[in-house]
Amino acid sequence: TMDSQPETTARRHQRIIMFPVPFQGHINPMFQLANLLYSKGFSITILHTNFNAPKTSNYPHFTFKSILDNGHENERFSQSSLADFAQNFLFKQDAAEAFRDELELLLASVQDEQVSCLITDALWHFTQSVADSLNLPRLVLRTGSLYSTIVYSSIPLLDDRGYFKLDDSHLEEQVSEFPLLKVKDVKKIGIKSSKDPLAQLLGDMMKQIKASSGIIWNSFKELEETELERVPDDFPIPRFLITFPKYFTASSSSLLEQDQTIFPWLDHVCEDSEEQVVEFPLLKVKDVKKIGIKSTKDLYAELIGNMVKQTKASSGIIWNSFKELEETELDRVPDDFPVPRFLILFPKYFKASSSSLQEQDQTIFPWLDQQPTKSVVYVSFGSLSQVEEKEFLEIAHGLVYSKQPFLWVVRMGFVKNSTWLESLPEGFPGERGRVVEWAPQHEVLAHEATGVFWTHSGWNSTMESICEGVPMICSSFWGDQPLDARYMSDVSRVGVYLENGLQREDIASVIRRILVDEEGEEIRERAQVLKQKADESVMKGGASSESVETLVDYISSL
Ligand code: UDP
Repeated sequence: TMDSQPETTARRHQRIIMFPVPFQGHINPMFQLANLLYSKGFSITILHTNFNAPKTSNYPHFTFKSILDNGHENERFSQSSLADFAQNFLFKQDAAEAFRDELELLLASVQDEQVSCLITDALWHFTQSVADSLNLPRLVLRTGSLYSTIVYSSIPLLDDRGYFKLDDSHLEEQVSEFPLLKVKDVKKIGIKSSKDPLAQLLGDMMKQIKASSGIIWNSFKELEETELERVPDDFPIPRFLITFPKYFTASSSSLLEQDQTIFPWLDHVCEDSEEQVVEFPLLKVKDVKKIGIKSTKDLYAELIGNMVKQTKASSGIIWNSFKELEETELDRVPDDFPVPRFLILFPKYFKASSSSLQEQDQTIFPWLDQQPTKSVVYVSFGSLSQVEEKEFLEIAHGLVYSKQPFLWVVRMGFVKNSTWLESLPEGFPGERGRVVEWAPQHEVLAHEATGVFWTHSGWNSTMESICEGVPMICSSFWGDQPLDARYMSDVSRVGVYLENGLQREDIASVIRRILVDEEGEEIRERAQVLKQKADESVMKGGASSESVETLVDYISSL
């Protein structure tokens, strides 16, 4: 029933005057209610302040009248802060008189129509006495939950019992009057005593709600059933629970412009992305999409297609892998690749350092030597991947948040539109971290201080990590990386896949989960077990070592 059309115009001669509090969270439900009542045939007049004035052009069917701060330009609040506005209009009773004058004029001007009632935000408590004096019923829209209304109505009681003053040693204790709440919840309301301006405002609000002709909540019975039963004695007035967002979205009353450009992106990332790929039950749709192919006509898709085709036409295929790691996959290969296959654990034979194109920073070893065993997060996203500046900062903050020592490889050009580190906050990396341009990666992974490898799941990096028994945090970018990240996390289970982007809190918590928390124990153990298998695979009689022998024989026989 979103944006439903008027059901009837029979009641159109009945007008409702509505007065929202001019804060976004109060404006939205009032306009949703206005739309709803309009769709039921009422005419609507909206009273509003110039401060945070609603966008009237979104509501050609309503009548608008500005009040309270509609004096000369310099008396208006359009430029001033929310706190100032509240100070002037909510916490003081002075506005009542001005409001009365305006309302009286308004009522006189709509003589031919019947004004059914006034509906105001609960915070406009003084409108009750004004409505009473004009014999106009006032209904209250309370924009919070029923539950909070009930707790608010007990503020004097809670203050009597001393909850707002209890010292911090009681924070985790239960509030016996509201067993659902802890003392810290009640303190967080922000009231120190019932004499606070806020306490008085809420007190006035409650008092005038009870004096009103009815109260409307943005809620529903099934959600707050138990609370509903607690209401009657306190509020001897008609009560209505309406689920506003089910009738109208709040977009039309947004004070700030809502950025609409995100939808194509959202459509792209959300499209069934969590679903499983039937042909490869291990993979989610998003993993396959992340390979980076849009159609088989892409240049990249063509390249991969040719690679596969010509591999099948070759005299043999060699992988940097080992049988124990990809046993199940090995069983799936034959029909597809009718050529001799060899799995060789390269990093176990030679480290990649000697073929490094960039100089590897060797100065980190004295620093690494000083770090506690298995405490360091080694971070590298390989030689090609790039991040946006925003992601770069999330990584940086995530590392700091983790409170673990870290060694981070940031290549020149790693951050899009930056040269190197210029967008990092001042003081970064601090005492705990080191940032280098390029590292002797395998040696770092082999160092006893290294506890976890946060990798882009490039295959070389993955194999190097496995060979050294280092558990991984996987952040894939494209190509085979999303597939390998999934495999490491779901099959080998030696990595945690950070699959929903880069957010500092997630980063810090996953680092701590692997390095510090007890639940990380299993993943650390599995990484050790896999390392042992790798070690055994290259020993005499092991699968990798046999593969080397077979390869040598095979090549010799060609
Ligand atoms: N590497 C390095 N120093 C670094 C980062 C990476 O020597 O600071 C090496 C790493 O040991 C690995 C290679 O660069 O052998 C990266 O290959 P991978 O397949 O992991 O990722 P790619 O760069 O192809 O995305």
